[in-house]
Amino acid sequence: MRGGGIAYADEGPYERDDLGVLWKRVGISPGKGRPEFGNVHFLRQRRAMRRLLCQICGGPSDRTDDGTLWVVGEDADEPELHKPGFVTTHPPLCVPCAVTSVGACPHLRKRHVALRVRAFVPAGVHAAVYDAGGVAFESWRLGWVLASQLIMEFQEFTVVDLEAEHAAYLKRAEARGRVSGGPPDHH
Ligand SMILES: [Zn+2]
Repeated sequence: MRGGGIAYADEGPYERDDLGVLWKRVGISPGKGRPEFGNVHFLRQRRAMRRLLCQICGGPSDRTDDGTLWVVGEDADEPELHKPGFVTTHPPLCVPCAVTSVGACPHLRKRHVALRVRAFVPAGVHAAVYDAGGVAFESWRLGWVLASQLIMEFQEFTVVDLEAEHAAYLKRAEARGRVSGGPPDHH
């Protein structure tokens, strides 16, 4: 590889992303059929992050004029949540899954903050083998990592009240149901 780094001996065309980052291979562990909160499978994580799919149901994440819905396991007064540059490896959520996960996930039950994120950018990868933490995309070490998770950086976002988001979502779904004459569609 250009500039040095690691590679698979039998590397296929889809094992690097468009930035040339080598990604961890899928192990033999077929889906267990239930969401593993806080332990998102890395391929699913990457796909959900890139396509902004809900990290739990895989449907579209919720997006309004205020931004895309994310829930992070922080306290609301966490200083990082009040300036640009907050990073996460957790993909966004749809409203019903957000409501479910804050009740079901032991970590989020303790503390969580819902965010509407208007501007975000993939900022780096969480690398499993050659570096202990995150590696920024501009880093010279990028050729030496085996990526397992995409890190998203929030540039513009606001803290929102998940209960209010849920109420607004139900209202939107109801309005859609009235227009189509059928029950609100549910992914
Ligand atoms: Zn969902």
